[in-house]
Amino acid sequence: MSPASVYLDHNATSPIRPVALDAMGEALRAGGNPSSVHRVGRAARARVEAARRKVAELVGALPAEVVFTSGGTEANNLLLRGCGRTRILVSAVEHDSVRRAVAGAEVVPVDRDGVVDVGALEQMLAASQEPALVSVMFANNETGVLQPVRDVARIARGAGALFHCDAVQGAGKVEIDVHGMGIDYLSLSAHKLGGPAGVGALIARAGVPLATDRKGGGQESYRRAGTENVAGIAGFGAAAEAAADGLDVVMWRDHLERELQRIAPAARVFGAGASRLGNTSCISMPGVKAETQVMALDLAGICVSSGAACSSGKVGHSAVLEAMGVEPSSAAEALRISLGWNTVSGDIERLIGAWRDLYIRVSRSDMSCPQAA
Ligand code: PLP
Repeated sequence: MSPASVYLDHNATSPIRPVALDAMGEALRAGGNPSSVHRVGRAARARVEAARRKVAELVGALPAEVVFTSGGTEANNLLLRGCGRTRILVSAVEHDSVRRAVAGAEVVPVDRDGVVDVGALEQMLAASQEPALVSVMFANNETGVLQPVRDVARIARGAGALFHCDAVQGAGKVEIDVHGMGIDYLSLSAHKLGGPAGVGALIARAGVPLATDRKGGGQESYRRAGTENVAGIAGFGAAAEAAADGLDVVMWRDHLERELQRIAPAARVFGAGASRLGNTSCISMPGVKAETQVMALDLAGICVSSGAACSSGKVGHSAVLEAMGVEPSSAAEALRISLGWNTVSGDIERLIGAWRDLYIRVSRSDMSCPQAA
């Protein structure tokens, strides 16, 4: 990333924190397999266990409940396939790694702000005696909308269901207390909080079922075979410890939204009626396709995503905005701006300036038909 660029795409991946880089460098230089009994192996084991304590502490779990994985996607797949329940209910705004992990999942609707309909969840659970697992995320990756996790946990428990929460976007941004909130399984990803990509964790509360069809060694207490990614795990631990201080950027996010709506009063903030992560804004530029916005802002040195960015890197259709009832024409104009640990106020001002320039330019050309000046 060039020093002149402004990076406001932390929900895609957050730049690595210096403490995480240092921890990784040390681990790589030291080497060692945590399963080896000699001193080098024991030192590698110590790094893994120190990181396990830090990750557990970030979300109020016990170290023994942490299973290191290759990321949030693997954590989601591991529990959805290994929880021993075939009846699975997922919210309509889950990440693809939840929605696609198992076939035949029942989809719980959300309201216009993207908040899960807990009444519908209750009714759906009551419709069958079959033991179920409910999967509802902590915070949405496109809109930042926070889900009523405690209510969902209470309803799931009341119906004898297990509860999984994908907290990949919430961890390190808002407080999470696995035990206090009644969560049975929780997914985490290091690269969303300033650690490296390719490492994450599943927190599986003591006593909940967790089977795996992965064959190999007895690593991670037989829950995830394969030699541990010691450097990645050490980086994850360091980032988790740093992220425990939280992320206080909501004033900048609110200032940004106010300014963009002053420039274009018809600009729409998706999920604005709900509680949201303080770092995320999913906002439309009226009459301008998200693809055009992303490219123009990139030329101005600003990195953001379209609301509907998909993993192939293309601007796709947003299942999240669709589930919220947003018309396709409006969804196609949605930009996702996400702040993070190294955001400074100058970044926000540069984005506002570039967004204004683009809006004025497009308004004056025939490229679009803006709804407001
Ligand atoms: N869950 C959510 C909500 C996400 O936003 C992401 C990544 O964007 C994932 C899961 C997948 O995490 P990973 O990239 O570590 O596989």
